[in-house]
Amino acid sequence: MAHQETSLPHTGIATFCKAPFVPDLSDCKADVVVMGVPYDGATAMRPGSRQAPRAIRDASTRFGFLGKENSRGFYDINRDRQLLESVRIVDTGDADVIYYERERNFRLIGEKVRSILGCGAVPMVLGGDHSISYPVLRAFESVGDLTIVLIDAHLDYKDELMGLKYTNNSPMRRAHELPFVKQILNFGIRGIKSTDRDVRESLEAGNLVFSNYDVFEQGVGVLIDQCPENVGNYYVSIDIDGLDPSIAPGTESPEAEGLSVTHVKQILAGLAERGRLVGVDLVELNPYLDHSELTAHISAQLLIETIATGQWGASG
Ligand code: MN
Ligand code: MN
Repeated sequence: MAHQETSLPHTGIATFCKAPFVPDLSDCKADVVVMGVPYDGATAMRPGSRQAPRAIRDASTRFGFLGKENSRGFYDINRDRQLLESVRIVDTGDADVIYYERERNFRLIGEKVRSILGCGAVPMVLGGDHSISYPVLRAFESVGDLTIVLIDAHLDYKDELMGLKYTNNSPMRRAHELPFVKQILNFGIRGIKSTDRDVRESLEAGNLVFSNYDVFEQGVGVLIDQCPENVGNYYVSIDIDGLDPSIAPGTESPEAEGLSVTHVKQILAGLAERGRLVGVDLVELNPYLDHSELTAHISAQLLIETIATGQWGASG
């Protein structure tokens, strides 16, 4: 019998969805390029999210035929359509971070993001703690005006914490200081360590802040209607602690009364009507704190869902 390449989920090298591994992007033709940032040097209490890129890739192998030539993608019974049919997805590996050297790491993260944007693809970034979103977003300068969509229990808008400006408490504040970042649309906020001052300063800067109860009581549709009609180019940052810890326990700072996967899907679908998805990250998954790999599997699914739902590619 002739040898056949079966490439089962549990065999071979675990790239994201078993997509081709393309470390050198100089001649890359892809719609989506996955990169990992195994860095949690900005985590104070329960580090471990540096292991998340591997955990997400491992879980994602369940959807291992994505990115293969002539892939038909996935059938979604709820939408009655194929998702991600013939999408070209590749995995370029990890930013070459080392622990302790933040400035060096942030520079290398940015360089890798720029190389992905340079080949016209959507970066899909596997964190890492939430501090990594800032160097990722900083690399989007060439894209022009950008809206950030944050799914998070926390606002991450602290100016500094004990003099530290680049921890996982501040990535959205740092990002909003970038001249091309227009607005941050925050969903699921509820952590009581985000102060009234953080909320006030974010609102005064023109951002929209929707708490978990806003989502529960008003519904996602009403909140999306309060967002700009034309969101333009947007970047989705999913802090996995935005979800309820009953479905996403593997994270540093779990906060009860969180969003469901359905809420996040509704947010993604609402935004897809109003703008173009130019990038996504998923952060704060800590595999050491996970049960049954549940958080890793939900993370992989949310990333696939984000790409499947959005209209990709920057508009001018
Ligand atoms: Mn958070
Ligand atoms: Mn966060």
